[in-house]
Amino acid sequence: MTQQEYVNTNFIEDIIIEDRESGKHPSIHTRFPPEPNGYLHIGHAKSICLNFGLAQKYNGLCNLRMDDTNPSKEDEEYVQSIINDIKWLGFDWDERFFFASDYFEELYKYACQLIEKGLAYVCELTPEEVRKSRGTLTESGTNSPFRNRTAQENLAIFHRMRAGEYPEGSKTLRVKIDMTSPNINMRDPIIYRISYATHHKTGNTWCIYPMYDYAHCISDALEHITHSICTLEFEDHRPLYDWFVNQFTDLPKPRQIEFARLNITYTVMSKRKLLELVKGNYVNGWDDPRMPTLCGMRRRGYTPQAIRNFAAQIGVAKFNGISDLELLEHFVREDLNKKATRVNVVLNPLKVTIENFPEDEVLWLDAENNPEDETAGIRQIPFSKHILIEQDDFSENPPPKYFRLSPSKEIRLKHAFYITCKEVIKNSDNTVVEVICTYDPESKGGWAKDGRKVLGTSHWVSEKEAIPIEVRQYTKLFLDKEPENVVPGTDYKDGINKDSLAIMNNALAEPSVAKAAAGQAFQFLRQGYYVADIDTTESKPIFNLTVKLKDGWTKKK
Ligand code: ATP
Ligand code: MG
Repeated sequence: MTQQEYVNTNFIEDIIIEDRESGKHPSIHTRFPPEPNGYLHIGHAKSICLNFGLAQKYNGLCNLRMDDTNPSKEDEEYVQSIINDIKWLGFDWDERFFFASDYFEELYKYACQLIEKGLAYVCELTPEEVRKSRGTLTESGTNSPFRNRTAQENLAIFHRMRAGEYPEGSKTLRVKIDMTSPNINMRDPIIYRISYATHHKTGNTWCIYPMYDYAHCISDALEHITHSICTLEFEDHRPLYDWFVNQFTDLPKPRQIEFARLNITYTVMSKRKLLELVKGNYVNGWDDPRMPTLCGMRRRGYTPQAIRNFAAQIGVAKFNGISDLELLEHFVREDLNKKATRVNVVLNPLKVTIENFPEDEVLWLDAENNPEDETAGIRQIPFSKHILIEQDDFSENPPPKYFRLSPSKEIRLKHAFYITCKEVIKNSDNTVVEVICTYDPESKGGWAKDGRKVLGTSHWVSEKEAIPIEVRQYTKLFLDKEPENVVPGTDYKDGINKDSLAIMNNALAEPSVAKAAAGQAFQFLRQGYYVADIDTTESKPIFNLTVKLKDGWTKKK
């Protein structure tokens, strides 16, 4: 690596560079360790981009490891979704796919070694008693009455715990460190508990399960992880992490490094809350396009590239903060601008009749697919006497500076012609139901021969050829900027935005949209980016709003 590439490194990279230069770790090895107890969210994406990204940049390796030590909450469905989502983001672990449960036998063996060394004991205090005896931040803990059992006795009971001779909750294995340590994590933490839940992978083979703090560092060491990157809440656990790996001379010593979790405005991120939103039917499943899950974002039309660009931009920090949802949306727009096919879709149609156009004629006009991409080519769109424009694009009594269609005014129909409003037709309750216009045949393509200017440009569809589609307009799921930061006594769910989904059932699209493949990205001209939904069982094709255009399209035609 050249000196140039060292520029703009973050504090984790600085450690990696130092370890490479000193020869401590000539090649680095990271891991992404999700617990398969829910679907991955954008916060996980940050950790994935970091771990896999560092391995790529520094020519190292990154493992995928399921941290599956809690059988009651974990499930095969989650394992599969995690695999899909990481692949979708664009990362690969080759054959290095592991489970913490792969190491249950070794973890048991190392626990026995701790007992033999007099560093672990079987404790029979109830969970409540353990909690009390651990003390508080200002008071030291008290020793368990079971702390001084002999190694022989502990070993015998531990074997019998494994053999299933004791009920759940009756015994734990604890390490003997220091009940007076200022760090509560060091006050004889529990490393094994009894559970008769069926494990998604090991079934009923085990009835004792290692705790995260013990299993995680040993798993890292067994996989020869050099840099174990985790989030800030584990900072106080680092002395325990080091304590464990230092007990075993046959194990390498990975280094734990903490960084700040990603938080995003208007978003809840904890898996527990996301599960609650799904179970309570506040949303339509884990992949509801309003969810911050990767499958939700995929269904919403967010692209892996946009998420990776966002993760790179926010970087890594040592202090917790919150990132703006608008920043993520910026990267989504930026990526889709280059990729999405432009089409005409009218969400709330208003009939327009062109009185000087022949009744049965259909004119097929050229329309560019993407002005940002020369290779995207053109398609043909039909123009006829009966067309539809957006209701919002017409006003009978326009306010000042109204740059759309109104009586006797002229506008451009994108890719088509100039039209002038001649007459307004209303029904009995005074609503406009149709607008009669004339068109200028000399303005084909949307540019007048004499070069005269018009007020604005509208999108439109031809009535006969248009296809009906269902459009799902999504906005923020939460009204509060920081929905997890709730006032005591209230619930984060109180802040759910009841209007976060609006279904538009009258929308009409130009005929080319009929060929949309599930997941295909579009820009509905002047409105926003949309994606063809994965659900193709409905009678009409469904499109999800990915993100609205930032500024209409009046400036940039
Ligand atoms: P949650 O708190 O949302 O339930 P978790 O931390 O329990 O998440 P894990 O499956 O244990 O979820 O996380 C796997 C990895 O992803 C861990 O290394 C964790 O630190 C990281 N991670 C989880 N949430 C975030 C986040 N918001 N920002 C950055 N990294 C995260
Ligand atoms: Mg976790």
